[in-house]
Amino acid sequence: MALAHNLGFPRIGRDRELKKAQEAFWKGELDEAGLRAVGRELRANHWQVQKNAGIDLLPVGDFAWYDQVLTHSLTFGVIPERFRGHDNAKPTLQTLFAMARGAVGNKSGDSCCGGAHAQPLLAQELTKWFDTNYHYLVPEFSADQQFELSWEQLFEEVEEAHALGHAVKPVVIGPLTYLWLGKAKGSDFDKLDLVERLLPLYGQIFRRLAAQGVEWVQIDEPILVLDLPQAWKNAFERVYNLLQSEPLKKLVATYFGGLEDNLGLASSLPVDGLHIDLVRAPEQFPSILDRLPAYKIVSLGVVNGRNVWRCDLEKALEVVRHAHERLGERLWVAPSCSLLHSPVDLEREDKLDAELKSWLAFAVQKCAEVAVLARAVNQPEAPEVLAALELSRTVQASRAASPRIHKSAVQARLAAIKPADSQRHSAFAERIAKQRAGLDLPDFPTTTIGSFPQTASIRLARQSFKQGKLSEAAYTEAMHSEIRHAVQIQEQLGLDVLVHGEAERNDMVEYFAEQLDGYVFTRFGWVQSYGSRCVKPAVIYGDLSRPKAMTVEWIKYAQSLTGKVMKGMLTGPVTMLMWSFPREDVSREVQARQLALAIRDEVVDLEAAGIRIVQIDEAAFREGLPLRQSAWGQYLDWATESFRLCASGVRDETQIHTHMCYSEFNDVIESIAAMDADVITIETSRSDMELLEAFEKFEYPNEIGPGVYDIHSPRVPSKDEMVKLLRKAARRIPAERLWVNPDCGLKTRAWPETEAALVNMVAAARELRRDVALLS
Ligand code: GLN
Ligand code: ZN
Repeated sequence: MALAHNLGFPRIGRDRELKKAQEAFWKGELDEAGLRAVGRELRANHWQVQKNAGIDLLPVGDFAWYDQVLTHSLTFGVIPERFRGHDNAKPTLQTLFAMARGAVGNKSGDSCCGGAHAQPLLAQELTKWFDTNYHYLVPEFSADQQFELSWEQLFEEVEEAHALGHAVKPVVIGPLTYLWLGKAKGSDFDKLDLVERLLPLYGQIFRRLAAQGVEWVQIDEPILVLDLPQAWKNAFERVYNLLQSEPLKKLVATYFGGLEDNLGLASSLPVDGLHIDLVRAPEQFPSILDRLPAYKIVSLGVVNGRNVWRCDLEKALEVVRHAHERLGERLWVAPSCSLLHSPVDLEREDKLDAELKSWLAFAVQKCAEVAVLARAVNQPEAPEVLAALELSRTVQASRAASPRIHKSAVQARLAAIKPADSQRHSAFAERIAKQRAGLDLPDFPTTTIGSFPQTASIRLARQSFKQGKLSEAAYTEAMHSEIRHAVQIQEQLGLDVLVHGEAERNDMVEYFAEQLDGYVFTRFGWVQSYGSRCVKPAVIYGDLSRPKAMTVEWIKYAQSLTGKVMKGMLTGPVTMLMWSFPREDVSREVQARQLALAIRDEVVDLEAAGIRIVQIDEAAFREGLPLRQSAWGQYLDWATESFRLCASGVRDETQIHTHMCYSEFNDVIESIAAMDADVITIETSRSDMELLEAFEKFEYPNEIGPGVYDIHSPRVPSKDEMVKLLRKAARRIPAERLWVNPDCGLKTRAWPETEAALVNMVAAARELRRDVALLS
């Protein structure tokens, strides 16, 4: 019998019940018992749903009050000093939330804005979980780190599941992945050295689980799909040899990529089974079968855990069948990775048109797909199996031929792209001369990144309009009034390049996705991003095109109010793609090009409307980098090419800006230069301009606006602080190529601190101009 199992189920609930309970608890509207009851109900429900879908072995340990990595930190007693009570008592739920969100009295987890008195307890750092949009809390290790079993959640949940009569498989993050994800704090030491001390905890956990009657444990080691230093590879052998003597059958799970050079290592680990991701890395099959010792089970991840498309069951079954012939009983079927990364239940989508809905599958449906694939080798003639295969065939056929997906006009345009289309007419030196002559800006020109505070009244107007309670005319007037307000303030402040403020946008991707053909929105397709924060990415289902201009009226209106230069504001193709659920029937590259052509048209229309500067944000450019370095080149090629394609339809005189919200550019600086934006604005204030080093060393040729103040906090930086940063920047980048701007958009800020900070920023720029005047 091939067995159907799941690596993890989304914890948020089909109506985001967990989010609502967490937030109510934080506000004091729900007590701890109430919060725990919501968790218990969600877990019970999720196990039942998976079981009903046909999953044989259910995951436990995939539930978390905030984040599964944080749960592990508590389990191992990896609790930084600042969160420990005086008596060193066991951590509580309060400890957990303090580690996640910072200390009490610290509004909304924004940890950078402590009051004058209480020393705020800084939350642990959040960072992206591999190449997903999920963020985990980074464990903090000290050189003398001790590990101690400090949190009972896993054992309690196993007991809970057993009481409900379920066969379960606890899921833990493996020791090496856990250490890899953390950060060595304080003195300089190698966190890998901690593994000897950490390992006994796994022994303790496995023994306790065994005593609870558990048979299998899933040990997640996704770092096996990364480029690992030799010391870490060696550690794998050592660690798993030591763990071998501990009880439980062990399934090592890898996902998000192929094992590649770690294939031999992973398949020879002395454990009882190995899970591999055949969605991301189908080429691992069937060679993996030749490498695996004959006693091991193989879990094949054939249903995509990270996207929303219905699985092509026939295609997947080919692989599963072949594996079954070789492995028989030793075959398990699974999603490619935990379903944490997929929305919960498609059945909830009551407004989606039937055809589109028939193409999709969320977590609940994916469990059923896994189950039917296992069933298909166990009982090939079962009527449910035949029906599911038949339906899958129909769906695949309908998608392959659907005129809603395949647009010949878009494809023809894509095919006709010439190299020259991705190339500005002249080189930067020539362009910038023309731009300077036309724009007539001072040295150290000041600008902002696009958005201004999204006030309650803006959100209300947008919402009322969406709900049909506000007429289009009234809505337009409400937005115009916001634009007038923003322009007036910017003129008063003396900013040089103005923006319209983005009042009409609730999100930099959604705003455009809503206006492009080929995108669809779900109502309940939420995925956890971090803690209680969920995102609902738009879905690219077909060839993408722009039926009509998307931003021109707003920007034109803003420009009509001022004699200063108004900057048009767009989101770039790579960011549009990264923050959406992409198609699987065409490459990411093709989708990026289609987006690029749509945005290119918008850039050209803005130019025709008299707009002389257009900013194309690429906030997600760096996060698109593949996990393996060997795949970087290819990604960077199409990503930069897509940007250039969207930016190159304009005359030399039109200035193209781009913006990226981070500043680690060392390893991609060549590609950033290849994007050939006339001006790039980046986030640098918190790094004290150190991170400009990449641009200095590379002799980055175009103009740069290194952010001079942090927008994540309401703190108003003084003029002198910003002057200092700018002088530092001017030592690295020639002054005539520097712009002055905040780190990022200001939409999460309020007006008072925004105005105060910008007053100081403009004053700082003026002081720098005096510096330069004195020198010359
Ligand atoms: N133009 C956007 C804004 O100002 C950019 C946001 C971002 O890069 N994340 O809000
Ligand atoms: Zn930004």
